[in-house]
Amino acid sequence: MSSTIKNKIVAALAIAAFVFSGSIPAFAQSSKHKSSRKGKQVTAQLTMEPTQPAGWKSPDTAKLYPDTCADRSSEPYVSRYPDIPIIDAHTHAAGKCSTVKSYLRVSEIIKKEYHSDLACWINLDKWVDPITSVDSIVKASDCRMLCSFGDYDVHIYTAREIAQKKKEGYLGCKFWFGPYYRRMTDSTHLIKYIDDPRLATMFKAMEKSGMPMTSLHIADPNGPFSDRGEWCADPVFFWGQIRSLENVVRKYPKLTFVIAHGAWLNNQDAQLDYMRYLLDTYPNLYIDIAATFQYYRLLDRNNLRDFMIRYADRIIYGTDVSDESEGDPEGIAARYARTFRILETADTVKGGGFFSGADVKGLNLPRVVLERIYYKNVLRIYSLSLKDGKLIMEK
Ligand SMILES: [Zn+2]
Repeated sequence: MSSTIKNKIVAALAIAAFVFSGSIPAFAQSSKHKSSRKGKQVTAQLTMEPTQPAGWKSPDTAKLYPDTCADRSSEPYVSRYPDIPIIDAHTHAAGKCSTVKSYLRVSEIIKKEYHSDLACWINLDKWVDPITSVDSIVKASDCRMLCSFGDYDVHIYTAREIAQKKKEGYLGCKFWFGPYYRRMTDSTHLIKYIDDPRLATMFKAMEKSGMPMTSLHIADPNGPFSDRGEWCADPVFFWGQIRSLENVVRKYPKLTFVIAHGAWLNNQDAQLDYMRYLLDTYPNLYIDIAATFQYYRLLDRNNLRDFMIRYADRIIYGTDVSDESEGDPEGIAARYARTFRILETADTVKGGGFFSGADVKGLNLPRVVLERIYYKNVLRIYSLSLKDGKLIMEK
């Protein structure tokens, strides 16, 4: 590991220790967490002077998967992987069957224009037109979409309610913590941080039932000093959200946490180092990459490529698409194609990510990584199978 990366990791931990000096820093405790990577059990010792978790010493990903690929930026994008099914695990069709139908149309356009197979979706609900019947969504999508229930106001679900949601066919639960709109309005329960003790009974019930947190939203983008952005300019608030996430991921080791948008630990290189630490330490933690593509320009490309390859088992694909496709299926298909091109090629992708932005240099990820990120991980993590293009819950 280069001394620059080491310095960045030490800096990130030092910032976290400084910000949370009012509470006990996780790495001040001498507790041990079992971490599993590629089936191998490793132990990460958490101390004030952190030792390097084993994952940080894994082989040089650039040597294992050379970054050689012709730059075809000037040509139209056509996928080299038409046989890999892609599951968008972060969407918000919510309860609108008309939106679900428009997703099917987008998939058709993508297949014809770009040769990619956008096969299935996870619908994470939203506060407008919420899901009232899982069956109607599954039917409208021809069994290509499954649903999670979402809760903007962070309702504290009882064990009975969790069991009922499971019975109704919901895959998991999504909450929003810390985005700007919640900070302005507060929730009915005034729960600002996910480690609020009032949520303990619910997390215990979810842990027992095996229901995962699906694309849980934590914080908002916190850019570097020169480019803070308008979402979450306050690093203290940002790290407070990350700290609260770590607290619950540690406290409920049997509860699967998939964190939306990579927990936004992707707007600075040192944040990505902290994500490495979290993934190495907590085997129950996963991330989706929805709405993150436009921020890749803020990261060192080699650092991000290494991260995506090394943690290929812990990352799932997503976009955060809502109901825009109803009026513009071709435009949405083109936006999907930009994200595929960023992941699959070394091209400079004009127009940014799914949500536009500056041009992004593609990551040229190897096939074995793309297969995991596009569909294998989401099937494994959420106990699903894909049969004849239909998404099926195993338990
Ligand atoms: Zn979302």
